[in-house]
Amino acid sequence: MSLAVSMLASGSRGNCAIVASACTKILLDAGISCRETFKRMKTLGEDPRSLAAILITHEHSDHIYGLATLAKRLRIPVFMTGATHQAWARAMRDENGERPQMEKLERFESGHRFQVGDIEVRPFTIPHDAADPVGFTFRAEGMKVGFVTDLGYLPISVRDHLRGCDVLVMESNHDLEMLRVGPYPWAVKQRVMSRVGHLSNEALANFFINDYDNSATFVVLAHLSEQNNHPEIARREAERALATRGGLFHNRVLLASQSEALEPIRL
Ligand SMILES: [Zn+2]
Ligand SMILES: [Zn+2]
Repeated sequence: MSLAVSMLASGSRGNCAIVASACTKILLDAGISCRETFKRMKTLGEDPRSLAAILITHEHSDHIYGLATLAKRLRIPVFMTGATHQAWARAMRDENGERPQMEKLERFESGHRFQVGDIEVRPFTIPHDAADPVGFTFRAEGMKVGFVTDLGYLPISVRDHLRGCDVLVMESNHDLEMLRVGPYPWAVKQRVMSRVGHLSNEALANFFINDYDNSATFVVLAHLSEQNNHPEIARREAERALATRGGLFHNRVLLASQSEALEPIRL
């Protein structure tokens, strides 16, 4: 009996993770190069050929940069929504002049669960400026993982999906004050802060204080901005918020990194 989460890369320069049961391994997003994905898997002792599928949250390049090469090399099913696939194909065609082929495309719809091996996947809509962005929960062997990054705020529907998770991977993108005084042009700052942008440390802390059910053994802070956040600030905010509800006794807070893979989180 096991369920494991491995954060291979997280942040605006590329996102990639693995969710694995004892018999099924899923790659979640393909935002770093194929070579780098394989390299990071190797450091964790993982064989890329053991992957059963690739799941894509949305078409922004930090989530799909390595997808075409990975799909070609691994020849495994790629799951995405129809709108995300179209947006991906359009972006790829703009670069190469022809429409890319996805050999084993599996379309899913937000709100409709599906199965990959023994892992049940539930995709749900998140507020973000992409064609059809989703977060996921994964269930296997009586355990649940919630995974949600790239969202401007946490609607009730998303908060509902995140109940009862044993591992919670959540965006802690920026510190509001660092973003405000930081180097981004005003238009970009506005986009990040908007309801379809990215989740701040403060918004995540509010969730922990007001809505979180204290269920997770591990809380992973993800998609941290390198310009507008600092790992220790994000950690301090999250731990302070979790402590207000006594949650720090139950939750271990981990930080996903852009530059290296985290040791797998095993349940
Ligand atoms: Zn992103
Ligand atoms: Zn995005």
